[in-house]
Amino acid sequence: MAHQHVILLIDDEPDLRESLETVLEVEGYGVVLAEDGDEALAHLRRGLEPCLILLDLMMPQPLSGSELRATRTPRHLK
Ligand SMILES: [Zn+2]
Repeated sequence: MAHQHVILLIDDEPDLRESLETVLEVEGYGVVLAEDGDEALAHLRRGLEPCLILLDLMMPQPLSGSELRATRTPRHLK
């Protein structure tokens, strides 16, 4: 049986986070929420390995894609 897919959802808008979380959980995904890039990086540094990262690119304190990749590059891309 496949593992439960985990999605890291990064958005500064609480309403959007909650509605997306609800939709994704109904579909059977595990959801980890972060309200900004720092919180997302903290999750990743603690060992979270999401299948998918949903990142709001228009946040007040955006997290650059290169910074995120530098933090955790999937093994097959190294
Ligand atoms: Zn997965």
